[in-house]
Amino acid sequence: YPWQEDLTDLMVRRLSEETNDLLRRLGRMAESLSMRAYAVGGFVRDLLLGRTNLDLDIVIEGDGVAFMKAWEREGYRVSVHERFRTGMILFPGPRKVDVATARREFYEFPVAQPTVASDSLKHDLYRRDFTVNAMAIALGERDWGTLVDYFGGRRDLRRGFLKVLHNLSFVEDPTRVFRAVRLEQRLKLKMEENTVRLLTSCVRGGLLSLLSGLRVKSEVEILFHEALPLPAIRRLREFGAWEVLFPGLAVDSRTDRVVRRLTVFFRRLHRDLPPFEDSLWLVYLASLLFGSDEAVQRSVMDRLHLTPAERHVLSLSLFSLGAAENDLGGRGERRPSEICWALTGVPLAVCLFWAAATERQRIRRRLLLFLTRWHKVRPMLTGRDILDLGYRRGPLVGKILDALLTARLDGSVETREEEIQWVLDTYPGAAPDTERK
Ligand code: ATP
Repeated sequence: YPWQEDLTDLMVRRLSEETNDLLRRLGRMAESLSMRAYAVGGFVRDLLLGRTNLDLDIVIEGDGVAFMKAWEREGYRVSVHERFRTGMILFPGPRKVDVATARREFYEFPVAQPTVASDSLKHDLYRRDFTVNAMAIALGERDWGTLVDYFGGRRDLRRGFLKVLHNLSFVEDPTRVFRAVRLEQRLKLKMEENTVRLLTSCVRGGLLSLLSGLRVKSEVEILFHEALPLPAIRRLREFGAWEVLFPGLAVDSRTDRVVRRLTVFFRRLHRDLPPFEDSLWLVYLASLLFGSDEAVQRSVMDRLHLTPAERHVLSLSLFSLGAAENDLGGRGERRPSEICWALTGVPLAVCLFWAAATERQRIRRRLLLFLTRWHKVRPMLTGRDILDLGYRRGPLVGKILDALLTARLDGSVETREEEIQWVLDTYPGAAPDTERK
């Protein structure tokens, strides 16, 4: 191979035994079918950077579909896109392995000299976005652990450069603008000068506005799933990308402030919250739209083809902040139950957004208390217990449970015994048979 390097030691040191085993099995299976398997892309890049990456992408020189079917015969779940000759194999764990085919005519197999690289892999790698993503590791018995690097990805990674493979890269696929900014910021690379120039002319040339709404949506969603989205948001602003994507959008220091708070709050609170990763990107989007006119905000929702549920989260975040501030404000002490009832039915992601977006400290504190503690509070007694106390089945049971929740939130009851006593004292006579069971 050209520019090869032995990564065997690095793989033993940095990858788990389980990952090394999996790679060996993938390589062996390919060889048993007279094909070759390579680990490629982000997995290789992150191995060289010492970062964990469990997304395994495999390129097969040969027939990827036949390769996946062979695993299927061994009892593994696979899903295959015949047309693109790609798919995935699900290994226990669960561990998903994406498989692609490096296009090559069948008559070229079986491979005569397994140590000679064929150019189908090179072509596959050349179709990728950046040099650091265009490296492969051979998984065959004889070439195990060999880094295949045709385009200088290893050198660029050492020097900390993010570089496109050729000058038409952003024109070919403008979503690479997002990918470039995301990788640069996440991996702390520096975009090489020519790449900056090409990216800038892609943005200035308006190519981003040619992307379909769904592709933009998917890129924005991925961007907002980064652990720290703010640097990427800012970098896209530097390039003028937001303005091209969403004309009229005002991304300013207010956006920065809200995004920064969202990130901090989410980090601090996510263990107290039920998983809402699905809506987290939407509230980051709300931060991006926060400072703009309502007409612009609505046109962004249209452009991204948001589903009704997504629109609901975004609209509530943006258009009900004022009303929420009114409901949750007040100079004096507010009882926790008042805050909780005011927030009934509001998605937690929206509460998080309001906490980040409001400039009123008192309201922010109340929202954060709701998110960390109060939203989880439930009475100890259940509906069944209320019936067992002798109350009649019907709407009253729900009413008692709600009142009990209020009492618990406001600290009037603590133990189960106190709850029972509280119910009997508060609703005397409502139970025809109040004899305690
Ligand atoms: P991330 O850690 O964000 O997932 P990744 O580089 O692993 O980064 P994937 O989206 O999983 O990203 O893509 C896997 C590989 O596929 C990349 O490393 C790259 O080689 C290639 N790739 C993905 N998207 C593109 C694209 N738009 N153009 C060219 N190559 C791409």
